[in-house]
Amino acid sequence: MELRGICFVLSVLCLLQMTHQQVDKPKAKKNAPPKKVVVTASMIEDIKKQIDHILEEVNLLKEKQALQSVCLRGMKVRSKCFLSMSGEKKFHEAADDCIMHGGILGTASNDEENDALYDYARTAVGHDRDIWIGVSDIVAEGSWVDVTGAAVNYTNWETEITLQPDGGTKENCVVLSGPANGKWFDQPCRFKKNYFCEFIIS
Ligand code: CA
Ligand code: CA
Repeated sequence: MELRGICFVLSVLCLLQMTHQQVDKPKAKKNAPPKKVVVTASMIEDIKKQIDHILEEVNLLKEKQALQSVCLRGMKVRSKCFLSMSGEKKFHEAADDCIMHGGILGTASNDEENDALYDYARTAVGHDRDIWIGVSDIVAEGSWVDVTGAAVNYTNWETEITLQPDGGTKENCVVLSGPANGKWFDQPCRFKKNYFCEFIIS
């Protein structure tokens, strides 16, 4: 598609060049008036629009290729791709970093995604690590929301041993725990943890 777009742009440029040559240098034919091809402003405008449209398509294609690259390097679960980011950060720093990369702090919206994140975390950062997920109750204690502020419909709290969430106002951010088989714990947001970013692919 990108190659087609470039070819089209080159063709248009050649056509314009030829058209101008025809206008500027008519063939001297005896008793025959030169055939003029008039390039109107609206024609040029139309061509510009087509070129803009092609450039938009090329940019969309580049974005798709970048996302596919993310999926190849990370973990794909249906329309989501999770990508492990290097280093440990506080919750807000991790969330900001994901936005900088064009995604959001990764989280699980169902068991399938939670299992995938857990498996990916074990291989990417180690089975004994916790990772931040994009869930918090910073705004209102006990009201767990995702990074867009929407209430979460799915949770996977550890409730058999420690009865999470148990930190009250001191623990407002959520980790998916490697040692606890992917169960969730509320923890202080200032702790530094590994994290994954989430990208939506279409
Ligand atoms: Ca809390
Ligand atoms: Ca806790």
